[in-house]
Amino acid sequence: MSSARLSIPIAKPWIGEPEAAAASRVILSGWVTQGPEVAAFETEFATAVGSPHACAVSSCTTALHLALVALDVGPGDEVIVPSHSYIATANVIRYVGATPVFVDIEPGTFNIDPVRIREALTTKTRVILCVHQVGMPCDLAAIISIAEEHGLRVIEDAACAVGSEVRLRDEWQHVGSPAGDVACFSFHPRKVVTTGDGGMLTTADPKLDAKFRLLRQHGMSVPDTVRHGASQVIFESYETTGFNYRLTDIQAAVGREQLKRLPEMIKRRRALAANYAEGLAGLPGLELPVEPDWCRSNWQSYCVVLPERCGQREVMQRLLDEGISTRRGIMCAHREPAYAEHPLPHPLHASVHAQEHGVLLPLYHEMGDGDQQRVVDALRLALD
Ligand SMILES: *Cc1c(COP(=O)(O)O)cnc(C)c1O
Repeated sequence: MSSARLSIPIAKPWIGEPEAAAASRVILSGWVTQGPEVAAFETEFATAVGSPHACAVSSCTTALHLALVALDVGPGDEVIVPSHSYIATANVIRYVGATPVFVDIEPGTFNIDPVRIREALTTKTRVILCVHQVGMPCDLAAIISIAEEHGLRVIEDAACAVGSEVRLRDEWQHVGSPAGDVACFSFHPRKVVTTGDGGMLTTADPKLDAKFRLLRQHGMSVPDTVRHGASQVIFESYETTGFNYRLTDIQAAVGREQLKRLPEMIKRRRALAANYAEGLAGLPGLELPVEPDWCRSNWQSYCVVLPERCGQREVMQRLLDEGISTRRGIMCAHREPAYAEHPLPHPLHASVHAQEHGVLLPLYHEMGDGDQQRVVDALRLALD
């Protein structure tokens, strides 16, 4: 039962004095929303992932929405997407009046199955919205080749995948380097880099980047920074129906500090994932996450799949009784009331199995080796 030992959370952002000082510096500067800090954060983020352009917004959800708006996706269009993802991935498709077409995942990587994508193509398909689930890159090479064959656009939901790497055309690159048309990142505290809330769009296409910038600020022709610094009076105009999806300079300053920690965070998370792989190998029937040899995860989460004989809730409760927090496998949008009437192109067996038998184990930068051993030991006992 509950011990005197400290409990182990599922996740914990690695954030502290440098971020607090950065936020304080911006507040005292008098310029607090989208301005110089956002611009600097964008430049530094673009460099970190190897993208020509990066545009900051208020969340990954708003980033995904802007990506669809900028690509002119709308009513009558179909967007191929995994159901097995956070619900925002599907919701953004509805925001623009298009139709999500849910396809199944591959067991092991929890990522969209390219074979299933082909089966779901119709004359209405416009976009493949793929997800790098819990930081594990999806099969971009296969997805991009399907898109090229059929004249489709590719949007990557890279909410969890900052720092993850993928080998494309025999070269290693970061997720967010030019691959699909747009990649969208999240800075929610549950992800690897956090600004409280926040998001980023990366693209190689300067025209798309310009559209994102227009759309995130009400469709306004002149950014505030330009008007503020101008020696001539400038009257702005509103070119299109935009949104207020701005990131604040306070958040961006925090993000800049977080980016400095990124290489160390990735290194530690990879070490923790390797420890889990070693410690959990040989637990009968337990399936460990699969990292294909053409990618390197940032291990935003570590998801194991329980043997059929074990009840998910029971195992999670046994761990909780030992002070260890877990989460069940990633949700499936099609199983939520909001999508109850939504037609499916095929049954999503692997998606449902991953939700019902998957368990996310604690993994965070400051997790000690002893904490991790406790998780391994508790899971071993719970599976007995
Ligand atoms: C977290 C998450 C989102 C939503 O990100 P926000 O920044 O919270 O809007 C979208 N897609 C996936 C796959 C996520 O994990």
